[in-house]
Amino acid sequence: MSNILKKDAFILPDGVIYLDGNSLGPMPKAVSARVQSMLTDEWGEMLIRGWNGAGWMDQPSRVGDQVARIIGAPQGTVVMGDTLSLKVFQALAAAIKMVPDRRVILSDTGNFPSDLYMAEGLVGLLEQGYELRTVDPEDVLGAVDNTVAVVMLTQVDYRTGRMHDIKAITQAVQSQGAVMLWDLAHSAGAVEVDLAGSKCEFAIGCTYKYLNGGPGAPAFIYVRGDLADTVQPALSGWLGHRKPFDFEMKYKAGAGIERMRVGTPPVIQLTALEVAMELWEDVDMAQLRAASVELQEQFIAQVERDVPSLTLASPRDSAQRGSQVSFRFHEGYAAMQAVIDRGVIGDFRAPDIMRFGFTPMYLDSGDISAAVAIIADVMNNDLWDVDKYKVRSKVT
Ligand SMILES: *Cc1c(COP(=O)(O)O)cnc(C)c1O
Repeated sequence: MSNILKKDAFILPDGVIYLDGNSLGPMPKAVSARVQSMLTDEWGEMLIRGWNGAGWMDQPSRVGDQVARIIGAPQGTVVMGDTLSLKVFQALAAAIKMVPDRRVILSDTGNFPSDLYMAEGLVGLLEQGYELRTVDPEDVLGAVDNTVAVVMLTQVDYRTGRMHDIKAITQAVQSQGAVMLWDLAHSAGAVEVDLAGSKCEFAIGCTYKYLNGGPGAPAFIYVRGDLADTVQPALSGWLGHRKPFDFEMKYKAGAGIERMRVGTPPVIQLTALEVAMELWEDVDMAQLRAASVELQEQFIAQVERDVPSLTLASPRDSAQRGSQVSFRFHEGYAAMQAVIDRGVIGDFRAPDIMRFGFTPMYLDSGDISAAVAIIADVMNNDLWDVDKYKVRSKVT
């Protein structure tokens, strides 16, 4: 697995074991110099000529192709832009138009709130009798019937790491005549995804988590190739127009996936992401997944052996789990702050989840043992039971 572990390619502060790459990936070393050169040599020297001369205008599709490779999507089917919340809205708006006689958007209670909020906003805006229906993750298959227009799910649950079977659910959804939209926020760069094989219509995801694109890195959207020339982009911005520089009065959707572009791309962020994506070029996702499972299994076994106060919240079967492991503890927030204070960085999700992400590109088995030793010290000696660890910050 020599092309999986690339610790030297990342900036990882001394004394830190980083188990939060599922929330914000660390910075690849190559990013700084390349972004600096983009600023100085491109923006600084080329000024507006950079759009053509430095390839800024094509960057959303160029980086989209880099992302496509690791989610099993053909080249030319993924484009970058905006934030994931906006991509939820964009994909969902296009998806419901494909099933005009139905009014139910089905999701699950394990979905990330922003996805549900965006759906709620769209339903409210349309005022056409749409309904957002949420069921427990285990009940999704049973809830798909011929009233459902679109099923919108996040493959990996942000709290517990529980993972949906993309292929099986997509098949069931399409057999009922509904459209499938997958959110791959916690999948891209974490687990093996075969979008083309799944035949799902839409997929979206972010790039600042496992893909290490940096805070605020743009999201991606995938539209199945045979649909890309007919889907209706509700966010009809000028850069998704067929000929943006003709400045026509009427919107005409662009060719293929290009129509999912909206406005001016964030070139500085895309440059950081483009460099980060170069680390994925020789990565075999099956090998990366195997390495991730190995680290997770080691972590679970050692925590359960050494830290009796923590209760596993993630599925025990690794096949049902993404690339994170969560444990429950009634004072989980304070416990996580105490652990972070000692150099093991994970995060907390209300009400009682301590979450740890596994990223074999920069974590090895020695890191896991060292992290568990610190967690055990904090938990077994009640080192978390200190006032300063109980004050909640804005970001948990
Ligand atoms: C991380 C995450 C988001 C975040 O959306 P942004 O618009 O990028 O802030 C949305 N949905 C899911 C499922 C996520 O995991």
